[in-house]
Order: sequence, then C-alpha cells, then structure tokens
Amino acid sequence: MKITNLEDLFNHTLEDIYFAETKLVKALPKMAKASDSPALAKAFMGHLEETKEHVTRLEQVFEKLGRNAKATECPAIKGILTEGDELMSEIKDADTRDAAMIAAGQAAEHYEITRYGTLVSWAKLLGHKDIATILEKTLKEEYGADDKLTKLAEGRLNKEAA
Ligand code: FE
Ligand code: ZN
Ligand code: FE
Repeated sequence: MKITNLEDLFNHTLEDIYFAETKLVKALPKMAKASDSPALAKAFMGHLEETKEHVTRLEQVFEKLGRNAKATECPAIKGILTEGDELMSEIKDADTRDAAMIAAGQAAEHYEITRYGTLVSWAKLLGHKDIATILEKTLKEEYGADDKLTKLAEGRLNKEAA
C-alpha cells in the first residue's frame, strides 16, 4: 500500500489493527485454556467476547469509509503473540506461567491502546467524528482489559509465582 498522506496512513493502521484483532480472537481462547487460575481464564474469555465486538466495529468503520474490511500483516502484534506463545509452552510451573500470560496479555492490550489512541486522534483530525466515537468505545474496553489483568496480577498471581 502506498502511503502519501494522513488518510492513507489512517487506512493502513485500520488494516493493521484489524489484523491484530483477528489474531487475538484466535489467541485468547488458547490463553484461557492454558491458564491455571480460573479467574485468569475467565478474564481472557471475557475479553474474547469484547474482542469479537472489536472486529465487528472495525468492519463497521471500513463500511463507513466505503471500503472492504482488509487485514495487513502487523509484525508488532505477531512478535508479541509469538513471545507469549513461547513462554506459555516453555514454563512448566503453573503460577509462573500464569504470571507470564498476564504479562503477555498486557503487552497485547498496551499495543492495542497505542493503536486505538492514534486512530482516534487521526479520525478526529480527518473529520471522521462518528468513526472516532466507535474507535473510542473499543479503546475504553482495551484500558478495561489491561486494568483487569493488573488487578489479577497484583491481587494474587504474582505472589503465588514468587
Ligand atoms: Fe481489541
Ligand atoms: Zn503494525
Ligand atoms: Fe484487547
């Protein structure tokens, strides 16, 4: 894709986060399955439902722009997920593995927060107010998911791993 202006860059970044969200829909159930803590598994499954909604919202955004939903491979989220996968299969101690998965989950949420934060401000700059509102809804849920993981980590799991 040739990027010459902010509208192009905005479109590219939508394709990038669309790629990430569809990958996360596949990764979250695996992370839930590998979780030792039922609370952690529940958090991953809860965020899976939100993530499916994030995919749908992005499809709405593409539609509003008169474009077909399209994914462009994002090396950043691929790296985060590969790293998480490696830790998940390497760590044998259950509490330590849960701590690693929380960290990997938070890396993914922080990645999404930076993408959606950028997209919201570009949408506003480009005059796509309704699109900014849709993306802001998702951004809030990414912050919420990150918070939930922080609370799980601080509450119990890191202590058990220690
Ligand atoms: Fe998301
Ligand atoms: Zn990317
Ligand atoms: Fe997320």
